[in-house]
Amino acid sequence: MRIPTALVTGAGRGIGRGIAEELASAGWSVVLNYRGNTQAAAAAVAACAEKAVSSDQRFVAVKADVSDAVDRARLVCEAWALSGSVDALVNNAGIAPRVRADLLEATEESFAELVRTNLQGPYFLTQAVARRMIADRKSDAPAATGLAVVGLAAAASAQKSIVFITSVSAESASVTRGEYCVSKAGLAMAVKLWAARLGGEGISVFELRPGLMATDMTAGVREEYDALIAEGLVPASRWGTPGDVGKAVRSLLSGDWSYATGSVIHVDGGMHLPRL
Ligand code: NAP
Repeated sequence: MRIPTALVTGAGRGIGRGIAEELASAGWSVVLNYRGNTQAAAAAVAACAEKAVSSDQRFVAVKADVSDAVDRARLVCEAWALSGSVDALVNNAGIAPRVRADLLEATEESFAELVRTNLQGPYFLTQAVARRMIADRKSDAPAATGLAVVGLAAAASAQKSIVFITSVSAESASVTRGEYCVSKAGLAMAVKLWAARLGGEGISVFELRPGLMATDMTAGVREEYDALIAEGLVPASRWGTPGDVGKAVRSLLSGDWSYATGSVIHVDGGMHLPRL
């Protein structure tokens, strides 16, 4: 039975690691991309191996900067080399501005870095992955006819998925992180575009929009947001965890949601709800 394979960007730490671990426990092989923290990526690979349910699953860390076109091309090649095919891409890697600067002070350099990493990177990684997924489907089609496949392998051969991790900031305006909001709002449009283009190719595309998640990215503002959560900012009254997002991704990649392509899934404890 073929083990389905997922490529998860930014999987060395935080939300991406949570997604990789959940997929490992659901029987997936995972290509864990990261940018520079090799130690964290090795720990994430080990955590996935512990959660695996089959000795045939494979986990490999691939260092590549998603904002760099050459790195993206190499990442795609290495992902396909792992198992000959990729069933799901999770565009998770992303960065916050190095400095939270007011809109009147923020720099073009920071804007360019955020858009290159959070928007251009996943947009063109999706293009590269979708091209290969479509080519795989075309070459698999005659061979798949008449094959008796079961369980995960059936889902893997029939359904391909691409998930984009955006943010509540795709919708909420934060005037000290304008470039982050713009990058995530652009990414939300990228989801609509790719869902519209890939619907007829058997590839489902989803936007998963987290709220406040307890990761390294938010470590510097933990106390500030603890106070806001205590005041009611998040209806669920707590920070989100990488596992909260991981479980949602695991469900989306099961194949059960394929007709919901283009949907936005809020994993934010209800933070997006307009309230009086
Ligand atoms: P994090 O804790 O800072 O982890 C980021 C991960 O992404 C790391 O593994 C990092 O690699 C990798 N990465 C960063 N830039 C990369 C690049 N150019 N190429 C490849 N990998 C790269 O972040 P997080 O909180 O888990 O956030 C993950 C995603 O969720 C981001 O897109 C973020 O915008 C989004 N999000 C986060 C929150 C939140 O509250 N934390 C809320 C909403 C949305 P290294 O380990 O090698 O540095």
